[in-house]
Amino acid sequence: MMMLRFAVIGNPIKHSLSPKIHQYFGQYAGIELSYDMIEGDETAFESQVLQFFTHGGRGLNVTLPFKQRALALAQKATPRAQLAGAANTLWMKDNVLWADNTDGVGLVRDLARFFKVQGQRIVILGAGGAARGIIHPLIEARPASITVAARNLEKCSAMQQAFPGIVCVALEQLGCDYDLILNATSAQFKKDPLLLPTDSLIQKPFCYDLSYKLNEPTAFVRFAREFGCEAKGGLGMLVEQAAESFYIWNGVMPSREQIMGALSRLSS
Ligand code: NDP
Repeated sequence: MMMLRFAVIGNPIKHSLSPKIHQYFGQYAGIELSYDMIEGDETAFESQVLQFFTHGGRGLNVTLPFKQRALALAQKATPRAQLAGAANTLWMKDNVLWADNTDGVGLVRDLARFFKVQGQRIVILGAGGAARGIIHPLIEARPASITVAARNLEKCSAMQQAFPGIVCVALEQLGCDYDLILNATSAQFKKDPLLLPTDSLIQKPFCYDLSYKLNEPTAFVRFAREFGCEAKGGLGMLVEQAAESFYIWNGVMPSREQIMGALSRLSS
């Protein structure tokens, strides 16, 4: 059988665990595949994507900061990608470029292992592609409220327009009445720190970082734990969103439990 080609495109990309995860899924499903990393270029992103598919690529994951551009490039998009306004999964079918967003379902599936969203007051930090991807799936889990807190007020008001049911505030004005704080910023990759008002942790909300590190807690997880909060990193979400992409491309849902244990070994 012909080797199937997949890849992830983003910038930065070197940290990505997606190749290891998809190789592992491929072994599980008996599908021979290659999965590369493509460093996304600010000006050439669209042609990089089209080139990948022209050269026989089967499926492409998209990561920061290109998820909104990925959706704009696609000719067809699933409802959840349209609702998110951002895409992390692309594929070509009958010469049509399709887009989906698996971040939201990935987050909700992993979060459910630790926290029941129904009736709770949720904060999302950041207003980028990942934040957009998780809002609708979270709404479906029927929280009491969703507040987006971001430092970029233009992005914040664009979010408010796109999702009228949520509240958007400036990061420095975030209050303290919350049960769950989700860090959907890319602060981990940037030099400037995430300036989260410490009052927001006073009531000990559960903290979940969409960012992840393999064998140590992320800066946000450490920070939250220092304030006595229970906190988790986003490795489980990464595996869940990857599994959903794998399912879209190959029609097989791989086992996620085994890979969680195997990830450290695979990456050492
Ligand atoms: P984007 O680049 O689209 O958005 C990043 C957001 O973070 C922007 O709103 C940006 O604000 C904000 N931000 C960055 N640095 C800071 C800071 N120091 N203080 C406050 N806000 C900041 O990235 P994505 O939304 O695609 O990804 C966000 C994070 O989520 C990444 O760390 C990514 O790895 C993670 N992620 C994890 C997944 C998983 O499966 N675990 C899946 C998807 C994403 P501004 O516009 O002002 O710069």
